[in-house]
Amino acid sequence: MSETSGTSASTPKLRAELDGVPTYKPGKPAAAGGPVAFKLSSNENPYPPLPGVMESALAAAANFNRYPDMACTALSAELADRFGVPVSHIATGTGSVGVAQSLLQATSGPGDEVIYAWRSFEAYPIITQISGATSVQVPLKDDETHDLDAMAEAITERTRLIFVCNPNNPTGTAVRRAELERFLDQVPSDVLVVIDEAYKEFVRDIDIPDGVELYRDRPNVAVLRTFSKAYGLAGLRVGFAIAHEPVAAALRKTAVPFGVSQVAQDAAVASLRAEDELLGRVGSLVAERERVRAGLVAQGWTVPDAQANFVWLRLGERTMEFAAECERHGVVVRPFAGEGVRVTIGETEANDLFLKVTEGFRK
Ligand SMILES: *Cc1c(COP(=O)(O)O)cnc(C)c1O
Repeated sequence: MSETSGTSASTPKLRAELDGVPTYKPGKPAAAGGPVAFKLSSNENPYPPLPGVMESALAAAANFNRYPDMACTALSAELADRFGVPVSHIATGTGSVGVAQSLLQATSGPGDEVIYAWRSFEAYPIITQISGATSVQVPLKDDETHDLDAMAEAITERTRLIFVCNPNNPTGTAVRRAELERFLDQVPSDVLVVIDEAYKEFVRDIDIPDGVELYRDRPNVAVLRTFSKAYGLAGLRVGFAIAHEPVAAALRKTAVPFGVSQVAQDAAVASLRAEDELLGRVGSLVAERERVRAGLVAQGWTVPDAQANFVWLRLGERTMEFAAECERHGVVVRPFAGEGVRVTIGETEANDLFLKVTEGFRK
């Protein structure tokens, strides 16, 4: 047996990049045992799974002594058909965050730079830092949208990947077709632009582009989509990218083998087939979003354009006080200390309760 040398041999050596990685803050659960408690702190779908989806998932669960189909064959074929893209351009993963992490693994490492807007999706700084690359955060504009001109100016020889979160989490704002196209035209062809469209189904402004259309003739554009939000499968962990070769091929190399369970794959296929009903539910959530936003504006609040399934209130210093007030009334929201509060659109009763809190809160 070799002897350990030195005094610091008591713990395994870990990569220095992990020091100071921010922890992902999951939305706080609704308090158990309270009079009423609604969880509006994660952007989930409040509806239960559609019957056909549950049946597919349960049928798949009967075989979970077996590994899933590693290539996600049926799901990939269904997606390729739906979007009119080659099946080789589809790459699936454990939620679109899993796919985003694979994109970083495939493109970026120490010495490389990853550009994204800030504040934006909290997973970006985490997965970037884990990759060893450096985050370049470009502040949002005053209207809470991406500053695409400043993001273009931030590109250097070291830039490998740029995230455009559209609509942006947590502000709900989105960039429009003309400005996004102008931006894409400025990005060097060897830099990957990832358009994260986790909330695409909730978009109603027709000037907000479909990333899949932008990707078609741009080999350096990849689109991320998820089954976690509109499709209501957050707990099953399945998302995908649409990207040209060789990006899609690189994603298949870097994906965790068998990462997407058969339950998730079959539920996703069934969800796509139940799309009419699903999109009906999305329509109801959008109607609720408009009702909540109009209610807030009528109360005198400033609310940025909301194109996803949540609203954003920039409360600054009063953020935590407001979040505590919501909780006292049985609504759990997602505060970003010192910045603002993101409130997911939930059941009508929950949204009403939230509007009651905002009405009584001194602005
Ligand atoms: C929720 C979300 C995702 C998707 O998360 P998964 O559950 O991992 O698919 C991706 N991007 C953004 C901006 C999100 O808000």
